[in-house]
Amino acid sequence: MNELISKNYCPHCSLFWQLEEKQMERLSQQQLKSMLSENITCRYCDKNFTFYEGMIEGIITAKLFRAFDLMYDFSFRDRTFIMLGQMKTIKLPKEMKLKEVVLSTKAPAKLSSSYSREGFIESFDVISSELNPETKNKILASGGWKRGLPEIKDWVEIEYHAYGNTKDQRENEVWIELLSQIMKQIQQEQYSAAILSSEIMFESFLDKSLFISLKNQGLNDETSYLILESVGNIQTKTHKLLEKLEGNGLQINKSVNKEWEKLLRKRNKIGHGEEIDFKKEEAQQALKTALEAICTIYIHTDIYT
Ligand SMILES: [Zn+2]
Repeated sequence: MNELISKNYCPHCSLFWQLEEKQMERLSQQQLKSMLSENITCRYCDKNFTFYEGMIEGIITAKLFRAFDLMYDFSFRDRTFIMLGQMKTIKLPKEMKLKEVVLSTKAPAKLSSSYSREGFIESFDVISSELNPETKNKILASGGWKRGLPEIKDWVEIEYHAYGNTKDQRENEVWIELLSQIMKQIQQEQYSAAILSSEIMFESFLDKSLFISLKNQGLNDETSYLILESVGNIQTKTHKLLEKLEGNGLQINKSVNKEWEKLLRKRNKIGHGEEIDFKKEEAQQALKTALEAICTIYIHTDIYT
């Protein structure tokens, strides 16, 4: 949760700022929790909003590269020239667990990157190839390259943006990894998948929270897993089990709970194979609901203290 809280967006002017690591370290979990419901004033546009609104709004409306800023602790961008058809190794400024590489070029070339997803690495490879005629025609027809097709020479100038983690402890939790998946799905117009993943993200956070809560009751790992597995019904977990353990279930926030029940119905329809044409707004709403439900549990229980 801390990685989300350390960065905040203004829902009005969509500027974003970040708390420094040292500031974050000084804050206890209790202070972080109360910070989520605090009113803040944007230092750029002077408008007021709660921290939590800003955080969620920022995630929903964020461009994918902004999303990566939320997910990872280090990013690096630069330009370079690469020779068409030949692999080029690009050195990173420091060792990192590379998670995403975004490549772009104005030349009519196809770019791809390759790197190891395991462990810390110091470089990644980029290769470019000429676009096939079909793709070229498609881009021309869509109004790209308004001044005609740029001539491709042997060398192509590319821009790269690499994102990753430089510290071991920043290994993201499962639900955070899902969050970046959902943002990608929305960008790629896979709205049903985004709705489905939003509910899975919530359930992953819920299970993790219940597990911590059961352990806090003095149960061992196996018993805690066993209890979680035997409660098959997600509503029972979200409402009754959480309430029995923590004094509050998701129903503590009526409006969030209502939206979550709607999300669950949509998830069930998708799960049953119904063909529904979901719109972008519905996928964004699903993500918003899942994040609000996660924040509700985070704020209204004593699991994260
Ligand atoms: Zn603002």
